[in-house]
Amino acid sequence: METITHRKEGGKTYESLVISRRVDGSPITIPVITVEGGGKGPSLGVVGCVHGDEQEGPAAVFRLVERLDPRRLVGRVVFVPVLNLPALEARKRGNPLDDWDYDMNRLYPGGPSGSLTQRTAHAFCEAILSRMDMVVAIHSGGSNIYCVERVILHGDAGMEMGKAMGPRWELIAKGVGERAGIADMVTIAERSGKPGITLELGGVSGRLPETFRQNVTSIVEGIENVMRYFKMVPGEVKRPREWIVTAYEPIRNTQGGILIFEEGCELKKHVKGGTPLVTMVDVFGNVLERITAPYDGIILAVPAQPSLPSGGAQIMSIGKVQEVLT
Ligand SMILES: [Zn+2]
Repeated sequence: METITHRKEGGKTYESLVISRRVDGSPITIPVITVEGGGKGPSLGVVGCVHGDEQEGPAAVFRLVERLDPRRLVGRVVFVPVLNLPALEARKRGNPLDDWDYDMNRLYPGGPSGSLTQRTAHAFCEAILSRMDMVVAIHSGGSNIYCVERVILHGDAGMEMGKAMGPRWELIAKGVGERAGIADMVTIAERSGKPGITLELGGVSGRLPETFRQNVTSIVEGIENVMRYFKMVPGEVKRPREWIVTAYEPIRNTQGGILIFEEGCELKKHVKGGTPLVTMVDVFGNVLERITAPYDGIILAVPAQPSLPSGGAQIMSIGKVQEVLT
């Protein structure tokens, strides 16, 4: 696979892996920034923009790279600020030109002769994931929902990493129902023996500069805490008072319409099953559908769009508390 090396300076290497080319000959690439430390330590992967409308990932990567001193690092960190470049350029979840494989986070490990999204996932697994011992995938609610800090686990292997994210990341969520067994990056990484976590924080409602900066800080400080936990960098490991482990599933609408947010619809709120969350109304204000909490739980993500198309959009998620760890 063709690799373009842009520069190497002070233990930091900036490269691009060429996946395909545009009509003008310019390459469509996966950018990779590798920070090499000394000594024997793990290789941590940090990946952003699997979904192109989730810019929290690259912003966090750039700050992590800037703050990371290779002379104080044991092991290696492989950063991929933007995995899905065509999706980022379009500012969409997936590559809008890829009619068959829109969502990259459902088709790992991809394939070498499939669509551009398939090929990108495949190149990532072959040439980049193979250089990582463990992986953090940074996600957010993108254009659709807004998420509170939540570590998503895909199996038990990621629990140690998830608990190492530090004080703001006390919510740990395991996907159940439609979320169980999806072919996302971290699930596939864990099948090849590499523990991983998915981070969810932010989304379109958090794009005011100050909120966005705070969310990026939360991601950066969490990943730095993971590096301290695995003794890749010196410093005290911080931890929350407790971890709340939940099982979550997305809640979807059936009717399209304008959303009226009910008082129960509040991020991080504990709600009882049956609590009204959202009422979908038509253009005259007539009620089309009432969405209530399907079970007791904590609201992990709220709608970020005050109107929705018909049928099955993921509008929020609620985590059912499984256990509290101290
Ligand atoms: Zn995402």
